[in-house]
Amino acid sequence: MSTILETKNLCKFYGAKENEVKAVDKINIEIKEGEFVAIVGKSGSGKSTLLHMLGGLDTPTSGEVLLKGKELYKMKEDELAVFRRRKIGFIFQAFNLVSSINVWENIVLPIGLDGKKVDTEYINDIIETLGIEKKIHNLPNTLSGGQQQRVAIARALASRPDILFADEPTGNLDTKTSDEVIALLKMSAKKYGQTIVMITHDDEIAQVADRILIIEDGRVVNFK
Ligand code: ADP
Repeated sequence: MSTILETKNLCKFYGAKENEVKAVDKINIEIKEGEFVAIVGKSGSGKSTLLHMLGGLDTPTSGEVLLKGKELYKMKEDELAVFRRRKIGFIFQAFNLVSSINVWENIVLPIGLDGKKVDTEYINDIIETLGIEKKIHNLPNTLSGGQQQRVAIARALASRPDILFADEPTGNLDTKTSDEVIALLKMSAKKYGQTIVMITHDDEIAQVADRILIIEDGRVVNFK
């Protein structure tokens, strides 16, 4: 399996001198194509800081992030913005759906923004896989939290990103719904060969991953 994402001595420090916080401290990780990796750690361990840097959203203090061999932070800001839109997908805790347009329109929105053609057959397959085919004409606020997150997963898969980052994707859901949503995320990732990096503070949710990285005080301390 080829490496899709790699970090080299990745660091993010905040503050100076005695106030310095090493939010991410020399992290070296490698993610293979098609892998589902969970990054687990307590609150304040550095998960969000790491995820933002992996996803091209936050500049490191030092070190490198390479996506398909391309170093993210060597790119100019506008080049990185385009690269991020084309190659990187996100699923957020708060779903982040557009409330004024229906489910179908939400799912195809990023494809349209990027000027690509919508592959209706593929999108319908994703929608059926996630069990939201009866909801495509609904507005997001008429759906339950679990259904909204399934729409956000469909939207993320629809544009076939090279890598998909999930930031506490079940953080707003009850336990039963979390289990259902995470199982669907795992199943659809495998079906479509989607590489996923998910951060969570929840050990049980992390169990669906192919591989678990544990982060403590900005360092990866254990591989499972
Ligand atoms: P997690 O996502 O695991 O809860 P974070 O990545 O949010 O952890 O935070 C890691 C550490 O970095 C914490 O000590 C946090 O207080 C600190 N931190 C995060 N963002 C900032 C910031 N903008 N300024 C100063 N310190 C920060």
